[in-house]
Amino acid sequence: MSKQSPSTDTQFMDKLVSLCKRRGFVFQSSEIYGGLNGAWDYGPLGVELLRNIKEAWWKDMTHRQNIEGLDAAILMHPRVWEASGHVENFTDPMVDCKQCKARYRVDELLNGLSIKKQKEILRQIDESYARLNDVEIAALFSQLPEADPRSILKLINCPNCGNKGTFTEARKFNLMFKTFVGPVEDSSAVVYLRPETAQGIFVNFLNVQGASRQKLPFGIAQIGKAFRNEINTKNFLFRTREFEQMEMQFFVKPGTDDQWFEYWREQRMNWFVRFGMPKEKLQWHQHEPGKLAHYAKNAYDIEFKFPFGWGEIEGIHNRTDFDLSRHEQYSGKGMKYFDEETKEKFTPYIIETSAGASRSFMAFLVNAYAEEEAPTAEGTMETRVVMKFHPKLAPIKVAVFPLVNRDGMPEIAHKIEEDLRTHLPVFYDDSGAVGRRYRRQDEIGTPYCITIDSQTLGDQTVTVRDRDTMVQERIASDRLVSYLMDRIYKF
Ligand code: ATP
Repeated sequence: MSKQSPSTDTQFMDKLVSLCKRRGFVFQSSEIYGGLNGAWDYGPLGVELLRNIKEAWWKDMTHRQNIEGLDAAILMHPRVWEASGHVENFTDPMVDCKQCKARYRVDELLNGLSIKKQKEILRQIDESYARLNDVEIAALFSQLPEADPRSILKLINCPNCGNKGTFTEARKFNLMFKTFVGPVEDSSAVVYLRPETAQGIFVNFLNVQGASRQKLPFGIAQIGKAFRNEINTKNFLFRTREFEQMEMQFFVKPGTDDQWFEYWREQRMNWFVRFGMPKEKLQWHQHEPGKLAHYAKNAYDIEFKFPFGWGEIEGIHNRTDFDLSRHEQYSGKGMKYFDEETKEKFTPYIIETSAGASRSFMAFLVNAYAEEEAPTAEGTMETRVVMKFHPKLAPIKVAVFPLVNRDGMPEIAHKIEEDLRTHLPVFYDDSGAVGRRYRRQDEIGTPYCITIDSQTLGDQTVTVRDRDTMVQERIASDRLVSYLMDRIYKF
């Protein structure tokens, strides 16, 4: 049985997107109106898969003594985003490479060029620039409007893919979606749709700590929607304007932060592996010290091997005491922690694990998709598409088939379906040849299919067929619940 992948990356994505639509995982948002860029709807199976991913994360995070849950509002006081640095740091002119989709701040892109390269570029724009000395050239490059970034950008190679002149126009851009509270649309009524869930956790740090009587170290976990007005939405669910995050902020005593950082790195990588991602499809990307975000002391991304290349699915950041200090400064309210044992008062450091639920959803989809040669009932071979989801993540856990629609088989099948339904999501299918029914379930990743046949009538046993091995086992029907629950939920 060979696992194949469709020959090219584009073909792979086309097949995946088409399967998602056909089988009800994901639809384009507002499709009948031509769709809305960067927004997607989760269909009947997609919503189950997404919920299972979130549930798996939630349980892993909050079924611990030292992590509390939270569900903060999407709309927050606008000062939050000043304190967080989003108002200031998301307003730079940005360009995207149309070829590889890498995004750059224009000033970083231009100032990152060597003086020699800068000179060469200016000379191509206007020979008279050749007279300028190094200091004047550097000054010109740091003053974008005068230096005419458009013509300059045409002459620059993308640092990522090396292509020349592939940049979009520079746009001064704040990634936050702005809206207004109340009926008057003036600047005093501006609020933002949160671009990350983390800030709702930071501002509630003392509320949660006081209410739950937690002591350091402890964490707060939250799952929720976030919005970013991305310049370039791309690659299906990878970069969208509306998406979901699963974030956990772990508050620690300064000095213990490095150790907790390593702890959470390990925990989070293991989580993806535990839910079926092979180690070779995951890697760490450390942010170079010079390129760390303004709040970070150390940062690693967990990257997954998507068909279009490695892409971040989660960031683990040591945010130091930046967030709590800034909120203390901007709100005027104390955000320090009082350690009852040592009688010390200090600002905790924060280790953040920030995963995209929708981006992980896509990674789990990509990881699950397989095309395999499989035997047909006639003994020939055919290609089957199978979504090899971890059983806990699979949207439907078990399908029930009567072999034929007579001889009392449908009645028994319905009875089994009803019994199982109180424990698991079940799908009943009585149409077409059993082989076809198996294929339909393979395509949506159902781990087990139960068939009621003539032998069932005599000895109350049924066949249980395993999605991955395609092996069928005969099981007494009264053992089905424990048989399935053991295999799906215990590991
Ligand atoms: P990227 O560089 O890919 O935009 P980021 O570094 O800005 O990501 P973070 O701010 O660290 O991302 O957000 C944490 C997680 O949220 C990411 O690892 C990703 O899974 C998810 N995420 C961020 N932006 C988007 C988006 N536009 N669409 C879908 N998921 C996103």
